[in-house]
Amino acid sequence: MTHYFGAHTVDAGGIHMAARRASSAGMRALQIFTAIPKYYNDKVSIKAERVTRFRETLASTSISPEHVVVHAAYVLNTATPDEAKWVRARDGLTRELARSTALGVGAVCFHPGAATDDDRDGAAERIASTIIHALKEVSGDTRLLVENTAGAGRTMGRTPEEVGAILAHIPQRLRSRTGYGLDTCHLFASGFDLTESAVATARILDAFEEATGEAPGFFHLNDSEGALGSNKDRHRLLGEGLIGTEAFRWILADKRARNIPLILETPQLNYEIADDDDSADPYDLQMMALLRSLL
Ligand SMILES: [Zn+2]
Ligand SMILES: [Zn+2]
Repeated sequence: MTHYFGAHTVDAGGIHMAARRASSAGMRALQIFTAIPKYYNDKVSIKAERVTRFRETLASTSISPEHVVVHAAYVLNTATPDEAKWVRARDGLTRELARSTALGVGAVCFHPGAATDDDRDGAAERIASTIIHALKEVSGDTRLLVENTAGAGRTMGRTPEEVGAILAHIPQRLRSRTGYGLDTCHLFASGFDLTESAVATARILDAFEEATGEAPGFFHLNDSEGALGSNKDRHRLLGEGLIGTEAFRWILADKRARNIPLILETPQLNYEIADDDDSADPYDLQMMALLRSLL
Protein backbone atom coordinates (compact mmCIF):
# COMPACT_ATOMS: atom_id res chain seq x y z
CA MET A 1 0.00 0.00 0.00
CA THR A 2 1.45 3.29 -1.07
CA HIS A 3 -1.20 5.56 0.41
CA TYR A 4 -0.21 7.05 3.73
CA PHE A 5 -3.44 8.21 5.35
CA GLY A 6 -3.37 10.24 8.53
CA ALA A 7 -5.23 12.92 10.44
CA HIS A 8 -4.68 15.89 12.67
CA THR A 9 -5.84 14.06 15.76
CA VAL A 10 -6.61 15.56 19.17
CA ASP A 11 -3.44 16.02 21.25
CA ALA A 12 -5.01 15.95 24.73
CA GLY A 13 -2.36 14.36 26.95
CA GLY A 14 0.44 15.36 24.56
CA ILE A 15 1.53 14.96 20.98
CA HIS A 16 2.53 11.35 21.64
CA MET A 17 -1.15 10.70 22.45
CA ALA A 18 -2.11 12.26 19.11
CA ALA A 19 0.18 9.68 17.49
CA ARG A 20 -1.41 6.84 19.45
CA ARG A 21 -4.92 7.96 18.47
CA ALA A 22 -3.96 8.08 14.79
CA SER A 23 -2.36 4.66 15.09
CA SER A 24 -5.55 3.32 16.73
CA ALA A 25 -7.44 4.50 13.65
CA GLY A 26 -5.13 2.42 11.45
CA MET A 27 -3.31 5.44 10.12
CA ARG A 28 0.25 5.60 8.84
CA ALA A 29 0.58 9.39 8.80
CA LEU A 30 -0.12 12.15 11.30
CA GLN A 31 -0.35 15.90 11.68
CA ILE A 32 0.30 17.77 14.91
CA PHE A 33 0.94 21.22 16.34
CA THR A 34 4.13 21.60 18.38
CA ALA A 35 2.78 24.69 20.16
CA ILE A 36 -0.54 26.54 20.52
CA PRO A 37 -1.29 27.63 16.93
CA LYS A 38 -2.87 31.00 17.77
CA TYR A 39 0.44 32.34 19.15
CA TYR A 40 3.68 33.22 17.38
CA ASN A 41 5.70 30.86 19.62
CA ASP A 42 8.79 32.69 18.39
CA LYS A 43 10.64 32.00 21.63
CA VAL A 44 9.22 28.55 22.37
CA SER A 45 11.58 25.61 22.28
CA ILE A 46 10.76 21.96 22.84
CA LYS A 47 11.81 19.98 25.90
CA ALA A 48 14.07 16.98 25.41
CA GLU A 49 11.72 14.69 27.36
CA ARG A 50 8.81 15.66 25.12
CA VAL A 51 10.92 14.84 22.05
CA THR A 52 11.93 11.48 23.49
CA ARG A 53 8.37 10.55 24.45
CA PHE A 54 7.10 11.44 20.97
CA ARG A 55 9.88 9.63 19.12
CA GLU A 56 9.52 6.51 21.27
CA THR A 57 5.75 6.46 20.91
CA LEU A 58 5.97 6.91 17.16
CA ALA A 59 8.41 4.00 16.93
CA SER A 60 5.76 1.78 18.55
CA THR A 61 3.22 2.66 15.83
CA SER A 62 3.15 2.09 12.08
CA ILE A 63 3.65 5.82 11.49
CA SER A 64 7.14 6.63 10.33
CA PRO A 65 8.56 10.07 11.19
CA GLU A 66 8.84 11.06 7.53
CA HIS A 67 5.05 10.83 7.29
CA VAL A 68 4.45 13.24 10.16
CA VAL A 69 3.57 16.83 9.26
CA VAL A 70 3.68 19.70 11.72
CA HIS A 71 1.19 22.48 11.01
CA ALA A 72 2.71 25.87 11.83
CA ALA A 73 0.81 28.57 13.72
CA TYR A 74 -1.98 30.32 11.81
CA VAL A 75 -0.96 33.80 12.96
CA LEU A 76 2.39 33.85 11.17
CA ASN A 77 2.00 36.31 8.30
CA THR A 78 5.24 35.80 6.41
CA ALA A 79 3.89 37.98 3.57
CA THR A 80 3.30 41.14 5.59
CA PRO A 81 4.95 44.44 4.57
CA ASP A 82 4.96 45.46 8.28
CA GLU A 83 8.60 44.96 9.26
CA ALA A 84 8.04 44.21 12.96
CA LYS A 85 5.27 41.70 12.24
CA TRP A 86 7.34 40.08 9.52
CA VAL A 87 10.30 39.59 11.85
CA ARG A 88 8.05 37.89 14.42
CA ALA A 89 6.52 35.67 11.73
CA ARG A 90 9.99 34.80 10.42
CA ASP A 91 11.25 33.98 13.91
CA GLY A 92 8.08 32.03 14.68
CA LEU A 93 8.48 29.90 11.58
CA THR A 94 12.19 29.39 12.27
CA ARG A 95 11.39 28.22 15.80
CA GLU A 96 8.73 25.92 14.39
CA LEU A 97 11.25 24.37 12.06
CA ALA A 98 13.66 23.94 14.99
CA ARG A 99 11.03 22.21 17.16
CA SER A 100 9.92 20.02 14.26
CA THR A 101 13.50 19.11 13.33
CA ALA A 102 14.09 18.07 16.95
CA LEU A 103 11.04 15.81 16.68
CA GLY A 104 12.47 14.35 13.47
CA VAL A 105 9.31 14.82 11.40
CA GLY A 106 9.22 14.93 7.61
CA ALA A 107 7.75 18.37 7.09
CA VAL A 108 6.35 21.59 8.48
CA CYS A 109 3.50 23.16 6.54
CA PHE A 110 2.48 26.79 6.82
CA HIS A 111 -0.02 29.26 5.41
CA PRO A 112 2.02 31.96 3.70
CA GLY A 113 -0.12 34.85 4.92
CA ALA A 114 -1.58 37.94 3.25
CA ALA A 115 -0.22 40.69 1.01
CA THR A 116 -1.93 43.42 2.99
CA ASP A 117 -0.46 46.16 0.76
CA ASP A 118 -1.59 44.38 -2.43
CA ASP A 119 2.01 44.10 -3.63
CA ARG A 120 1.87 40.40 -4.46
CA ASP A 121 5.34 40.20 -6.00
CA GLY A 122 6.84 41.80 -2.90
CA ALA A 123 4.83 39.41 -0.75
CA ALA A 124 6.14 36.37 -2.64
CA GLU A 125 9.67 37.63 -2.02
CA ARG A 126 9.02 38.17 1.68
CA ILE A 127 7.57 34.67 2.06
CA ALA A 128 10.63 33.24 0.30
CA SER A 129 12.96 35.30 2.55
CA THR A 130 11.24 33.74 5.55
CA ILE A 131 11.78 30.23 4.20
CA ILE A 132 15.42 30.98 3.38
CA HIS A 133 16.04 32.40 6.85
CA ALA A 134 14.50 29.37 8.57
CA LEU A 135 16.38 26.87 6.38
CA LYS A 136 19.69 28.65 7.01
CA GLU A 137 19.14 28.85 10.77
CA VAL A 138 18.02 25.24 11.18
CA SER A 139 19.85 22.45 9.43
CA GLY A 140 18.31 19.02 9.06
CA ASP A 141 16.00 16.98 6.86
CA THR A 142 12.63 18.45 7.90
CA ARG A 143 11.15 20.22 4.89
CA LEU A 144 9.31 23.54 5.03
CA LEU A 145 6.24 23.39 2.78
CA VAL A 146 3.93 26.17 1.62
CA GLU A 147 0.25 25.26 1.86
CA ASN A 148 -2.17 26.55 -0.76
CA THR A 149 -4.83 28.77 0.77
CA ALA A 150 -8.59 29.19 0.42
CA GLY A 151 -7.96 32.65 -0.99
CA ALA A 152 -9.83 34.82 1.49
CA GLY A 153 -8.90 38.51 1.49
CA ARG A 154 -5.41 39.13 0.21
CA THR A 155 -3.94 35.75 1.18
CA MET A 156 -1.06 34.47 -0.89
CA GLY A 157 -0.70 30.96 -2.24
CA ARG A 158 -4.08 30.41 -3.87
CA THR A 159 -2.88 29.71 -7.42
CA PRO A 160 -0.15 27.56 -8.98
CA GLU A 161 1.50 30.77 -10.20
CA GLU A 162 1.66 32.23 -6.69
CA VAL A 163 3.06 29.09 -5.12
CA GLY A 164 5.52 28.90 -8.01
CA ALA A 165 6.52 32.56 -7.58
CA ILE A 166 7.32 31.98 -3.90
CA LEU A 167 9.45 28.90 -4.58
CA ALA A 168 11.21 30.53 -7.54
CA HIS A 169 12.98 32.88 -5.10
CA ILE A 170 14.59 30.00 -3.19
CA PRO A 171 18.26 29.45 -4.07
CA GLN A 172 19.00 26.11 -5.70
CA ARG A 173 21.08 24.73 -2.83
CA LEU A 174 18.09 25.09 -0.43
CA ARG A 175 15.40 24.19 -2.91
CA SER A 176 15.08 20.48 -2.04
CA ARG A 177 14.30 21.43 1.58
CA THR A 178 11.17 23.30 0.57
CA GLY A 179 8.12 22.73 -1.61
CA TYR A 180 4.37 22.86 -1.18
CA GLY A 181 1.29 20.86 -0.29
CA LEU A 182 -2.33 21.01 -1.39
CA ASP A 183 -5.48 21.22 0.70
CA THR A 184 -8.52 20.02 -1.27
CA CYS A 185 -10.93 22.31 0.59
CA HIS A 186 -8.68 25.30 -0.08
CA LEU A 187 -8.40 24.35 -3.76
CA PHE A 188 -12.16 24.15 -4.13
CA ALA A 189 -12.81 27.32 -2.11
CA SER A 190 -10.29 29.22 -4.21
CA GLY A 191 -12.07 28.22 -7.43
CA PHE A 192 -10.49 24.95 -8.58
CA ASP A 193 -13.33 22.59 -9.44
CA LEU A 194 -12.31 19.13 -8.28
CA THR A 195 -15.76 17.70 -9.01
CA GLU A 196 -15.82 17.90 -12.80
CA SER A 197 -13.84 14.83 -13.90
CA ALA A 198 -10.71 12.82 -13.16
CA VAL A 199 -9.01 14.52 -16.09
CA ALA A 200 -9.91 18.02 -14.92
CA THR A 201 -8.66 17.23 -11.42
CA ALA A 202 -5.39 15.86 -12.80
CA ARG A 203 -5.00 19.08 -14.82
CA ILE A 204 -5.25 21.14 -11.63
CA LEU A 205 -2.46 19.07 -10.10
CA ASP A 206 -0.50 19.41 -13.38
CA ALA A 207 -0.78 23.19 -13.18
CA PHE A 208 0.77 23.20 -9.69
CA GLU A 209 3.47 20.79 -10.80
CA GLU A 210 4.32 22.89 -13.86
CA ALA A 211 4.41 26.16 -11.93
CA THR A 212 6.63 24.80 -9.16
CA GLY A 213 8.64 22.10 -10.92
CA GLU A 214 7.55 19.39 -8.52
CA ALA A 215 4.64 17.32 -7.21
CA PRO A 216 3.03 18.24 -3.87
CA GLY A 217 4.73 17.13 -0.64
CA PHE A 218 1.43 16.34 1.06
CA PHE A 219 -2.32 16.53 0.62
CA HIS A 220 -4.84 17.74 3.17
CA LEU A 221 -7.97 15.73 2.42
CA ASN A 222 -10.92 17.88 3.43
CA ASP A 223 -14.39 18.33 2.02
CA SER A 224 -15.67 21.88 1.76
CA GLU A 225 -18.64 23.57 3.38
CA GLY A 226 -18.13 26.63 1.18
CA ALA A 227 -19.05 26.71 -2.50
CA LEU A 228 -16.60 26.65 -5.39
CA GLY A 229 -14.71 29.95 -5.38
CA SER A 230 -16.30 31.08 -2.10
CA ASN A 231 -12.87 31.55 -0.45
CA LYS A 232 -14.44 30.01 2.64
CA ASP A 233 -12.11 27.82 4.69
CA ARG A 234 -14.54 25.49 6.44
CA HIS A 235 -13.77 21.77 6.43
CA ARG A 236 -16.36 19.01 6.35
CA LEU A 237 -16.15 15.21 6.54
CA LEU A 238 -15.38 13.71 3.12
CA GLY A 239 -18.63 13.18 1.26
CA GLU A 240 -20.54 15.62 3.49
CA GLY A 241 -19.42 18.80 1.78
CA LEU A 242 -19.67 20.25 -1.71
CA ILE A 243 -16.67 18.35 -3.10
CA GLY A 244 -18.13 14.89 -2.54
CA THR A 245 -16.39 11.53 -2.59
CA GLU A 246 -15.66 11.07 -6.32
CA ALA A 247 -13.02 13.80 -6.35
CA PHE A 248 -11.17 11.97 -3.60
CA ARG A 249 -11.28 8.74 -5.59
CA TRP A 250 -9.66 10.59 -8.51
CA ILE A 251 -6.99 12.17 -6.33
CA LEU A 252 -6.11 8.84 -4.70
CA ALA A 253 -5.79 7.24 -8.14
CA ASP A 254 -3.28 9.89 -9.18
CA LYS A 255 0.35 8.81 -8.74
CA ARG A 256 1.04 12.12 -6.97
CA ALA A 257 -0.99 10.88 -3.99
CA ARG A 258 1.43 8.01 -3.41
CA ASN A 259 4.17 7.94 -0.79
CA ILE A 260 3.32 11.30 0.76
CA PRO A 261 1.23 12.12 3.85
CA LEU A 262 -2.51 12.31 3.07
CA ILE A 263 -3.85 14.15 6.07
CA LEU A 264 -7.49 14.51 7.09
CA GLU A 265 -8.26 17.80 8.80
CA THR A 266 -11.89 16.86 9.08
CA PRO A 267 -13.97 17.27 12.25
CA GLN A 268 -13.42 15.00 15.24
CA LEU A 269 -16.44 13.69 17.12
CA ASN A 270 -14.67 13.63 20.45
CA TYR A 271 -12.62 16.78 21.07
CA GLU A 272 -12.98 16.32 24.83
CA ILE A 273 -11.23 12.96 24.94
CA ALA A 274 -9.44 12.11 28.22
CA ASP A 275 -5.67 12.64 28.31
CA ASP A 276 -4.95 8.93 28.73
CA ASP A 277 -7.53 7.69 26.20
CA ASP A 278 -5.78 6.62 23.00
CA SER A 279 -8.85 5.31 21.20
CA ALA A 280 -9.49 6.39 17.62
CA ASP A 281 -12.01 9.11 16.96
CA PRO A 282 -15.20 7.59 15.49
CA TYR A 283 -15.14 10.12 12.63
CA ASP A 284 -11.55 9.17 11.81
CA LEU A 285 -12.55 5.50 11.66
CA GLN A 286 -15.41 6.44 9.36
CA MET A 287 -13.05 8.46 7.12
CA MET A 288 -10.48 5.64 7.01
CA ALA A 289 -13.15 3.16 5.91
CA LEU A 290 -14.29 5.59 3.24
CA LEU A 291 -10.77 6.28 1.97
CA ARG A 292 -9.98 2.56 1.74
CA SER A 293 -13.20 2.00 -0.21
CA LEU A 294 -12.05 4.59 -2.76
CA LEU A 295 -8.74 2.85 -3.54
ZN1 LIG B 1 -3.44 24.49 6.86
ZN1 LIG C 1 -8.37 24.85 5.89
